[in-house]
Amino acid sequence: TIKGQYGPLVGAIDEGTSSCRFIVFSASTGKLVAKHQISLGQTFPTEGWVEQDPMEILSVVNGTMEACVEKLKDQGIEPSDIVAVGVTNQRESTIVWDKITGEPLYNSIVWSDARTTVTLEKILEVVPNKNKNYLAPLCGLPLSPYFSALKINWLMNNVPKVKQAIEEERCCLGTVDTWILWNLTGGKNGGKYVTDVSNASRTMLMNIETLQWDPMLCGFFTIPIDILPTICSSSEIYGYFAAGSLKGIPISGCLGDQHAALLGQNCLQPGLAKSTYGTGCFLLYNTGTHKVDSRQGLLTTVAYKLGDEAAVYALEGSVAVAGAAMNWLRDNVGMVSGVDEVESLADSHRSTADVYFVPAFSGLYAPYWQPDARGIICGITEDTTRGHIVRAALEAICFQTRDILEAMRKDCGISLIKLQVDGGMTANQHLMQIQADLCGIPVARPQMVETTALGAAMAAGYAEGVKVWDLEISHSQFDTFTPKITDAERDYRYTRWKMAIQRSLGWDI
Ligand code: ADP
Repeated sequence: TIKGQYGPLVGAIDEGTSSCRFIVFSASTGKLVAKHQISLGQTFPTEGWVEQDPMEILSVVNGTMEACVEKLKDQGIEPSDIVAVGVTNQRESTIVWDKITGEPLYNSIVWSDARTTVTLEKILEVVPNKNKNYLAPLCGLPLSPYFSALKINWLMNNVPKVKQAIEEERCCLGTVDTWILWNLTGGKNGGKYVTDVSNASRTMLMNIETLQWDPMLCGFFTIPIDILPTICSSSEIYGYFAAGSLKGIPISGCLGDQHAALLGQNCLQPGLAKSTYGTGCFLLYNTGTHKVDSRQGLLTTVAYKLGDEAAVYALEGSVAVAGAAMNWLRDNVGMVSGVDEVESLADSHRSTADVYFVPAFSGLYAPYWQPDARGIICGITEDTTRGHIVRAALEAICFQTRDILEAMRKDCGISLIKLQVDGGMTANQHLMQIQADLCGIPVARPQMVETTALGAAMAAGYAEGVKVWDLEISHSQFDTFTPKITDAERDYRYTRWKMAIQRSLGWDI
């Protein structure tokens, strides 16, 4: 065994919606040294509900780490070369558990779950002018079933065990990072009960200026403020692995997945942005230490906070359905057998023949924020084939990204000159070309696509007491896709898209 052949290593747990990865990077070169990935199930108990098993989340986290450690050993590398580990995670999804037994009190309510749509309607009735942005000055977010607050409120009102645990002061609750960190640092035997500012900024309970839980927000959703975890920075030692092959190693980075991707893409200056295409699609635009309030339906969010340094903010456009539309084509309607067929159909169908597909399965997120929108496919003629529909589903993802870029331009007054992208779906060359065509700017895809994990590793390595990572050295080569259609065609198709959006709104009455 050649100890230290890569120098110090930094690990990252990337716990996404559809899979969990553990990735180990060399802290001196940024090179990916080893990786393991395990997929993760979701259940859909009834229409609009999306759940995951918190114990399965834990077991895939532990499983990916242990399998990756084996891969390191196969390369002659000792896990003790790992000096720090970062955690990055699907955001907003909410888990409640009993701190005495460590047992979850309910399934994780996944971010895309829309069960609280009815509660939201009731809340809007009592809000002045039914203004969705009523709380935005405090938390940067519109009222929506997407964020954790309404999910927590639902759990408290509908799961007797949760109510009881709160009364008996044994209830822990939080986003997925909190569940993972608590368990990895000891769980019921002294686990750290923490979250970071980026994850907390997605709950609707954190004050976007003070970066603390806000009494008014907690009161609005009737959530007791004192049961919430401690809000930390995104880069500090939260605790140490209590068990397993990494026992004793510090966990020192924590970020929501989109925020980690922003770091991993090196979007560290105001004006830089990245778009990540996974189950959903999320575009984050760094606005520096300055918080921008959106007038265009974008979210104000904390991008990251590195230790004692000032928090950096971002504007975010969130799209609920991106890769999820591919899964729908495969699993619900059997139009494709898998992603390979998506690629081949997109290759053989170079247009949608004017078919538009708005995949508003559970409403529309940014910039519309319409929970009552529903999916539509329009413009169908007798010549329409599944190839056209599949391509229209790909185009929909790119049109939604354009919607967000338009909103960002209006909010910030500057147009992006390049879109940095990442995420599982960017493997699709056609998607990348369509994106460049429909937005009219080059799309740059890094060759090292694990930017989310890299961002979490960077935060972990940067922490006080670890400090092996100069945030400036992360680097990557890019593949660039340039627009190939005329402005006139781009604008025509975007106008048609907007017509399709109008038809999808207000369907669920
Ligand atoms: P997440 O981080 O949200 O779990 P990933 O980044 O792993 O998601 O991306 C997975 C999503 O990307 C899935 O919905 C999958 O259907 C989609 N996807 C992956 N490869 C392709 C492809 N070549 N073409 C179209 N969609 C793809």
